[in-house]
Amino acid sequence: MRYSTLVDTYRKLESTTKKLEKRDILSSLYKGSKELYKAVLLSMGVVITIEQIGIAKELLKKTIIKAYGIDEKEFIKRFKETGDLGLCAEFFSKNRKQKTFSKKELTIDHVFDNIKNLSEITGSGSQDRKISLIVELLSHADPEEAKYIIRTIIGDMRIGVSHGIVRDAIALAFDKKTNDIEKAWDVLGDLGKVAEMARKGILNTEITLFTPIRVMLADRAKNLKEAINVFEHPAIEVKYDGFRIQIHKNGNIIRLFSRRLDDVTNQFPDIVRLCKDNIKARSCIVEGEVLAVDEKGNAKPFQQLSRRIQRKHDIEKTVKQIPVQVNLFDMIYLNGENWMNKLLKERWYKLNEIITTKKKIFQLAVHIETDNYKEAERFYRNALAAGDEGVIVKNMDAYYQPGRRVGFWLKVKDILEPLDLVIVGAEWGEGKRANWFGSLLIAAKKDDKYLETGMLGSGLTENQLEEMTRMLKPLVVKEEGKFAEVKPRIVVEVGYEEIQKSPKYPTGYALRFPRLLRIRTDEKKPEDINTVKDIEKLFYNQRGKVRRKN
Ligand code: ATP
Repeated sequence: MRYSTLVDTYRKLESTTKKLEKRDILSSLYKGSKELYKAVLLSMGVVITIEQIGIAKELLKKTIIKAYGIDEKEFIKRFKETGDLGLCAEFFSKNRKQKTFSKKELTIDHVFDNIKNLSEITGSGSQDRKISLIVELLSHADPEEAKYIIRTIIGDMRIGVSHGIVRDAIALAFDKKTNDIEKAWDVLGDLGKVAEMARKGILNTEITLFTPIRVMLADRAKNLKEAINVFEHPAIEVKYDGFRIQIHKNGNIIRLFSRRLDDVTNQFPDIVRLCKDNIKARSCIVEGEVLAVDEKGNAKPFQQLSRRIQRKHDIEKTVKQIPVQVNLFDMIYLNGENWMNKLLKERWYKLNEIITTKKKIFQLAVHIETDNYKEAERFYRNALAAGDEGVIVKNMDAYYQPGRRVGFWLKVKDILEPLDLVIVGAEWGEGKRANWFGSLLIAAKKDDKYLETGMLGSGLTENQLEEMTRMLKPLVVKEEGKFAEVKPRIVVEVGYEEIQKSPKYPTGYALRFPRLLRIRTDEKKPEDINTVKDIEKLFYNQRGKVRRKN
């Protein structure tokens, strides 16, 4: 398929805000696509993430300058006006001085493959080779194509396409029930693959080892009493404040996936060894929470764990420096059989059977089963006293529901629930801090939009400010005076003293004394953050809560 056909689709998508219209536009694209997998991914603008591409914004600027033979001043002037690299590429392509004689028509394959290859280029001279791949694409692109190529590379399409719309468009295109598409997506975790199966008419809902499953999530409970009363057979488990891991095992092969379904096997060779030695099953998928711990097995702050997740080199060194502990809580596949439809009590007991516990290193989550409030409360208080976040109350009679919050797990915490928000802007600091962003504009989700709900400033250490600045700089889309608008990519967990109604922010709510608890970009995508509805709910529930410093 010609890339220009996809560009026509982008244009149509950009021109409407109506979800149903977007669904119909995508559906006709999918129906007519020979290269369906690539078309689905490109239509979501997610060939690979900018982190995987490993190309900084600065380098993209150089690429555009090189592709169109312009001088840097010209580029900076245009970039200041538009604040958008895609629009810059479009402009310079329109006003191109140099003609390309060997210009050929771009295809979806060509664009997809070049962008995908960017992530595979490593080693010395890799940046130059990456620039060449992009320049090659731009040399064949017409102005509008150039705009979308750049937007795909930076992962900011601005066409308002969510995963939900893509799911519905696949269902419509291939005459399938949305629910069946959703189920296949649960076990494949990849809408491109789901679309291909839907077209072939063989919608697989079978688990495939080493293809991560979308994880089950928890709802919030108002308090412990309410949570205990909801289920006939409740279990109460410690809610560890770490990193979720989904472990796939087939014989001696182990792969580990994050909650975002990223493969994190290479970062945790220690967990791989633990799984090989301590899981007594030919094949299985089990889930748990990983904590960074000290030599006595006590949890360390999440930042330490973050270092493990981000580490790409000298991994065995960090294994020694930052040991981890695995707390297992679920099992969804065993020896070739899907266990998602079995009850938690069966899954939990089987998990107990197949795990050899290594105390404080590789163990089962602390878990009791009781509907006695006094006993539950004692458990909860002990968890808090041990420094854990709280507890999760689970329905022992429930099946595993991938990818959603359906009320089978209820989390209970003592503090006002921190919020996961996304950074959408930042202000340069003053004086000594003039080279760093000093305060951050944070936003919650409403439909497909991010609405501002406060400024996060005080309490950030110099190291955090430096780290934030490093992360945010490549995401800047527009600067005005001291304020920079940034692409919504960095997810932060924010604590606060209180939620107040406020006309100052578009959510209608402001956070009193917001403070950064941690950066969660490794665990959560911007589309998974808290919604304005969540804030509203928390606002009405906050009375009477103990305010405890995190
Ligand atoms: P929070 O923001 O409160 O950390 P969350 O938004 O990351 O929660 P939730 O769905 O609200 O995610 O809570 C479930 C998460 O809690 C799981 O993804 C897992 O990472 C973590 N967790 C810790 N202990 C447990 C446990 N015993 N059982 C299930 N999940 C647990």
